Amino acid sequence: MTNQHHKLQAKNIAPLLQAISSLPKIKNQVSFLDAITITPSSPISPQTKQAIIELAQNLKPWRKGPFSIDDLFIDSEWQSFKKFNLISPHLNIQDKDVADIGCNNGYYLFKMIPYSPKSLTGFDPYALFKCQFDFINHFMQSQITFELLGIEDLPAYPKLFDVILCMGVLYHRTDPVMTLKHLSRALKPQGEVILDTLILKSEEDIALCPPKSYAKMSNAYFIPSIKALEGWCERAGFIEFECFATVQTNTAEQRKTSWIDSLSLENFLDPNDSNKTVEGYQAPIRGYFKLRRK
Ligand code: SAH
Repeated sequence: MTNQHHKLQAKNIAPLLQAISSLPKIKNQVSFLDAITITPSSPISPQTKQAIIELAQNLKPWRKGPFSIDDLFIDSEWQSFKKFNLISPHLNIQDKDVADIGCNNGYYLFKMIPYSPKSLTGFDPYALFKCQFDFINHFMQSQITFELLGIEDLPAYPKLFDVILCMGVLYHRTDPVMTLKHLSRALKPQGEVILDTLILKSEEDIALCPPKSYAKMSNAYFIPSIKALEGWCERAGFIEFECFATVQTNTAEQRKTSWIDSLSLENFLDPNDSNKTVEGYQAPIRGYFKLRRK
């Protein structure tokens, strides 16, 4: 993952941005079912179709999605609607200021549009993911704000939020308690966080600290038991802590497609025992939590 990130940073995005802004604006209809689907209101020219396909391919890797534009289907590595369907019954965002921290290409931000939030703000520090967002948003024309910022930039950010999504980010941070503090302090009073993080199956208040990598992710630092995570959340200023789901990630949710060039989950697990990672740890299990601040 670290190598991947270096590649993402090294990618020259200027030509991508240029190509996105030179695409014609197309009148379309959007549907927000599993795939974010953009259907042009009238047929688009073969040249425009080709430009859209080429640009989508130049924007690889597509990790989160899927998206569909006309007859192009961007089959992302993750079937992100599975996660969204888990959290959606817990989303109380109508007329609320909502942020998604580590939003990647903004898939969940787009999915939240039909819930009529007051505002939607995404944070992700990787320029290529912002380009993917710009590409989709070129057709979507949403009011979403995308900030090329990290979770560590929340303390200096001028706006507070009613609801913050923070999914798949915590185990990538070297200081998880400080990270949770950044989240709690970015909330308005009574505000809530929907948190998704890898968890360790244990009744004790302990965390797994892989010295080199976890499921081939060299930037996975702390994988807490639910009890340990609850302690971190208390220290970070949250007064309510609810775990509403735990799910073992499977290859129906995360798998290699032609829209990523790297390997995916099945290569991160022990070939002889899919309940173990290649390093011999427990295979990835995610916990889904609702946290509330005072
Ligand atoms: N939230 C999405 C994506 C998780 S992948 C989901 O749950 O499906 C982790 C994301 O965090 C990537 O998009 C990565 O670019 C982003 N990220 C990396 N460093 C970050 C940081 N310091 N602050 C916020 N997000 C970060």
